[in-house]
Amino acid sequence: MTALLEIENVTVSFDGFKALNDLNFSMNAGELRVIIGPNGAGKTTFLDVITGKVQPTSGQARFKGKNLKKHAEHTIARFGIGRKFQTPRVYLNLTPRENLELSCNRNKNVFATLFKKTPTAEKRTVGGLLETIGLDHKADMPAELLSHGEKQWLEIGMLVAQSPDLLLVDEPVAGLTDEETEQTGNLLMSLAESHSIIVIEHDMEFVRQIARQVTVLHEGSVLCEGTMDEVQNDPRVIEVYLGQETSITPEQLLLLRITATMAWADGSFDSAEQSLILDQLSRKFAHTPEEQAPLKEELSNLLAKKIPLEELVPQLTSDAQREQTLLLSYEVIRSNGINKAEAASYQQLVSLLNLPPDIVNRLEATTVETF
Ligand code: ADP
Ligand code: MG
Repeated sequence: MTALLEIENVTVSFDGFKALNDLNFSMNAGELRVIIGPNGAGKTTFLDVITGKVQPTSGQARFKGKNLKKHAEHTIARFGIGRKFQTPRVYLNLTPRENLELSCNRNKNVFATLFKKTPTAEKRTVGGLLETIGLDHKADMPAELLSHGEKQWLEIGMLVAQSPDLLLVDEPVAGLTDEETEQTGNLLMSLAESHSIIVIEHDMEFVRQIARQVTVLHEGSVLCEGTMDEVQNDPRVIEVYLGQETSITPEQLLLLRITATMAWADGSFDSAEQSLILDQLSRKFAHTPEEQAPLKEELSNLLAKKIPLEELVPQLTSDAQREQTLLLSYEVIRSNGINKAEAASYQQLVSLLNLPPDIVNRLEATTVETF
């Protein structure tokens, strides 16, 4: 079986600078693939190559076995590659229903008439699409009244209306609320049942929600691939995300994750809790203020929620680590008053840590200044 998409030794040079550097990548039909990587890794350029916006300096991209070289963007779109850009491109004066109708018609006229593309098995109706994207109750109001998230979903719907074989989605949750982010994840997962999708994303928590297979890009090449757990624990990934000049170790990352999970216990992670964690950890992991600022930024990208404590805590290898974890977690949940959900999570943490009660008492009595 040929892969749906194959990128073979692709290099893209901009005046000698290699935005993509001998990149190899392959995915099969039906996959939902998430691509992550630090800023400047080449993620957008990667999509630009697939859509024909940028031509490889060397190497080739093949879609369904066909070399994409020299094909114009609109031709590649007709081959069945649909791209969703970061800013929604919907007609604001039209309703969601009208926007979708336009996309469906474009599909019929251009694809079906010109190219005799056989209708896909799951031919979608406007009504069905509105339901899929959760906008059936807002179908007939002007799109300008939709929230940012709803506009994103509408644009995803408009792409799906054109029945692409491969959907490319660039940072779909930037600027969305937590609830919208989660709903976007659900939408993409439901679309993934009948589409091949590549999602580029920064938001680690979102990636964890949807990711099956993750590809990490770094300096224009694939650094590693695997499940979210595999890539998040890969020391090379930790290193590129946190910067080589800092001294963060997998143990320190674990401390960050547990603390973040505690902070998420009550379903909200308020900014006081977040700055407390970031302040404490950046001061602990980096020694100079110049190092702390970028580290804080990087750490904030890693505050993944919904990792069960029973998965994280057993990875702590020493009593010193367990004590540190307890200390910081206690401080975090106390920062804005302890509620029921937080108390329950904390109790679970204490029992998983399995520290002697007198140590727990001593730690709880310690103020954060001595941390
Ligand atoms: P990402 O999306 O992962 O942040 P990009 O693909 O946007 O990364 O960029 C990769 C690198 O290539 C960056 O260093 C960027 O500055 C550079 N780059 C991207 N497009 C161009 C261009 N048109 N001209 C010159 N350099 C570019
Ligand atoms: Mg980008």
